[in-house]
Amino acid sequence: MIPKHTIGSNALRSNALCSNALRSNAHTHTTFCDGADSAEELVRHALSLGFISLGFSGHSYYPDCSHYCMSPEGTLQYQAEIRRLQAAYQDRITVRLGLELDYFSQVDLAPYEYIIGSVHHFRDPSSHIFYAFDGSADHFRQMLDQSFNGNILALARAYYSMLAQLVTQPQQGRRIDIVGHFNLITKQNRVHHLIDESDPAYQKIAYEALRACAQTGAIFEVNTGAMARGYANEPYPNLEMLRWLHELKAPVIITSDCHAMACLDFAFEEARQLLLTAGYRSVMRLGRNSLFEEVAL
Ligand SMILES: [Zn+2]
Ligand SMILES: [Zn+2]
Repeated sequence: MIPKHTIGSNALRSNALCSNALRSNAHTHTTFCDGADSAEELVRHALSLGFISLGFSGHSYYPDCSHYCMSPEGTLQYQAEIRRLQAAYQDRITVRLGLELDYFSQVDLAPYEYIIGSVHHFRDPSSHIFYAFDGSADHFRQMLDQSFNGNILALARAYYSMLAQLVTQPQQGRRIDIVGHFNLITKQNRVHHLIDESDPAYQKIAYEALRACAQTGAIFEVNTGAMARGYANEPYPNLEMLRWLHELKAPVIITSDCHAMACLDFAFEEARQLLLTAGYRSVMRLGRNSLFEEVAL
């Protein structure tokens, strides 16, 4: 979940010159959830950028967060609309029907071609208060103080263990295809500096979850969404984590977590450079013939 914000001043850092390998996005939100644009507007924009494929990943329904996820009725409309677009544009672009599945969501996964697994929330076991890991800086601080007694490592442990659980445990007989925004809890770090990403204790917690997720064969997204909104200068995961992933030979896919079409390919070239620095020479993308295909960076 990424609340609507004014898009950062560098919002138009779209890469008209981006490599052919990147002309695709698998993490795209529409007006069926909290995106600003219709699915068809996004398809047309993807075509104007020369994309070969576009995958939609509406937020899965769950009652506690109905303000940004797809409603049960909206979910059916979403599926029908994406299928309509698949047929209408099949000669020009491959459109895929995906879902961003939240940890707390229980929806039928059968209609979807691929699943992004994401943890956005924490439910305090005592107060039952529902917090967002990617909420405002104040909200994050409140969650840290009230649910974790100010212990940031305890918060990190809770977040990463939920993510590892979501990715490693089969959901309705299938596995998560893409690990969503791996280190999302660092979103407000520019404001509150609560997470020291170089702290070995933090890194150990994150690494164990990363390795557990990688062992399933899941693809890790290199998500530029926080860069588009001005929260961060680097994608999720950060460069060090990308190095860990490269060592583990984990596949990666560059995504924009797009909530507004101007950001459909935001900072893809920077993500590509970062992956080259981490040692990667190829990435996955949504293919025209196979669901995912490997392409050179
Ligand atoms: Zn998300
Ligand atoms: Zn998303």
